[in-house]
Amino acid sequence: MMEFDQAQAQLAEAAGALTRRETLPLAQLAGRVLAQDLQAALDLPPADNSAMDGYALRAADYAAGRKLPLMAERIYAGLAPQPLSPGHAARLFTGSLMPEGADTVIMQEDAHEADGSVTFLQAPTPGQHIRRRGEDTRAGEPLIAAGTVLQAAHIALLASQGIAQAQVYARLRVGILTTGDELVAPGQPRALQQIYNSNGAMLAAMATGMGAEVPLVLHALDDEASLKQAFEQLLQACDLVLSVGGVSVGERDLVKPVLESMGASLVLWKVRMKPGKPVALAQACGKPLVCLPGNPVSAFSVFTVLVSPLVRRMQGRRDIFPATPLVALRTERTRRDGREEFLRVQYRAGDFPELHPYRNQSSGVMSSLPWADGLARLPYDTDIPDGTPVRYYDYRLWQR
Ligand code: AMP
Ligand code: MG
Repeated sequence: MMEFDQAQAQLAEAAGALTRRETLPLAQLAGRVLAQDLQAALDLPPADNSAMDGYALRAADYAAGRKLPLMAERIYAGLAPQPLSPGHAARLFTGSLMPEGADTVIMQEDAHEADGSVTFLQAPTPGQHIRRRGEDTRAGEPLIAAGTVLQAAHIALLASQGIAQAQVYARLRVGILTTGDELVAPGQPRALQQIYNSNGAMLAAMATGMGAEVPLVLHALDDEASLKQAFEQLLQACDLVLSVGGVSVGERDLVKPVLESMGASLVLWKVRMKPGKPVALAQACGKPLVCLPGNPVSAFSVFTVLVSPLVRRMQGRRDIFPATPLVALRTERTRRDGREEFLRVQYRAGDFPELHPYRNQSSGVMSSLPWADGLARLPYDTDIPDGTPVRYYDYRLWQR
């Protein structure tokens, strides 16, 4: 059996970042992955300006109780000011450009204005209350690195630099294939021996939740022709194909022989993890194809911890493996089966955060899925006393 960490690392290497790129305007960049390193275009602020509503002066002109005549011009933000005449002060406001010759700002609370002159109540520190040209960014400096998922904060920064568009990776196209004679699509009538197909909708939602596109969700019966046709269609239309079910060693588990008949090399991994032991990786038509266990709870966990890093890699993202902090697990476990276990847990915040497992960890229990906030990873063959710190895989990080 393959160690979980090794399987995770190897899967993340199954493909590189997409080569397809597109250039999009600011309004369409939220959530997209930057494909180029961006440098600052401008010094920001572009010129020295006032950090206060107040008065600009030369510090050398200040003396206790001295009246300075005011320049006739009141310098509002957005105005290009006249130079400051010697021995004068100028009225200005937050964001107003500093007039040439002025080196200091005194805030209006420390000033008394009357009859076209101003007196200051406090001695200024020379140079105070000025935002200096370039103190925020300097033209040519690195601004945002390739591989960053652009959020409102990055978009604000680009806009402040006057950058109206950026090059991003194309959206990753994920194709999904569910398999099984027993499955019916939700919304259709169902016979006693049938169950509803939950994996198709679930995996599509997981992929789109990560910012991918899902152009095709197909279902194949457990026969070779149906599987082969579906795989061909998916490999044509998508960058990454996920199939679920049909990959163990049952008589109707035909995914492996079908992929082999298509010339794909498929390696079946028995990963030392529970739920989810059988996972397979193939390369077909130059594209990665991952086969997940059919059980929906297993497929959910395997997608989260094993497949999501590959999705991030192909999307061009920099952070492939999110953090897994240690959090106290509030249960005790005796572990003897030689597989790491991923428990569905709720995270209880507080000064000493805790993880509480769902009461029934059987991999058939669908109701545990929306209940849980994430997965707690338990080492194999190790007894876990109550309160043991374990690695926590937060869905908010791992399913993004
Ligand atoms: P398999 O690996 O195909 O033997 O599937 C393992 C278990 O998961 C079986 O009980 C299947 O009925 C169930 N299963 C497989 N695919 C799905 C699906 N798309 N939706 C719900 N259950 C599924
Ligand atoms: Mg099946």
